[in-house]
Amino acid sequence: MAVADPIARLVKELARLPGIGEKTAQRLAFHILEQGAERAGALAEAITGVVRDVRCCSVCQTLTDRDPCAICADPKRDPRLVCVVESVPDLVAVERTHEFRGRYHVLHGALSPLDGVGPSDLKIRELLLRLEREPADEVVVATNPDVEGEATALYLKKLLSPSGVRVTRIAQGLPMGGDLEYADQVTLARALSGRREL
Ligand SMILES: [Zn+2]
Repeated sequence: MAVADPIARLVKELARLPGIGEKTAQRLAFHILEQGAERAGALAEAITGVVRDVRCCSVCQTLTDRDPCAICADPKRDPRLVCVVESVPDLVAVERTHEFRGRYHVLHGALSPLDGVGPSDLKIRELLLRLEREPADEVVVATNPDVEGEATALYLKKLLSPSGVRVTRIAQGLPMGGDLEYADQVTLARALSGRREL
């Protein structure tokens, strides 16, 4: 290595980040060095803080720094209407539509047998326990409109139906193979209001 060891170490760590190649990592490392101790300290503290302070909400499994999260703690949100999403960015996307006044459940993924992702890898058990504890009238399955998302929706339908809860699925307006996170607000809002029985 032609650079000092501490720089090489930072470059190596930065290059582990998704979408960051060796060259970008090097540019970032030199940038951090130039910015000085104060900025570097703030960056380091933000990184340490996110890992230290953020955890899963014990009710809905979203990422939060207080438990229960702000949505679960909001008495104005309907606890009998639960929207199941794959990820936190998907939850944020649904929130952006301002169409949904219920609560959420974040699965942290979707079923994908080919990638070895089974039900026990998702927060499905947590969902069942939660619905036992706090029964809902309707579960809106808002997993992505792709193969994994559809498989997850059907699995949930099969799992939840015996309990008598109404299971609906968002569909209309969302392109197959798409990602909820990148859908525009109008499309997602329409998909939500046009949900149907699974
Ligand atoms: Zn929550």
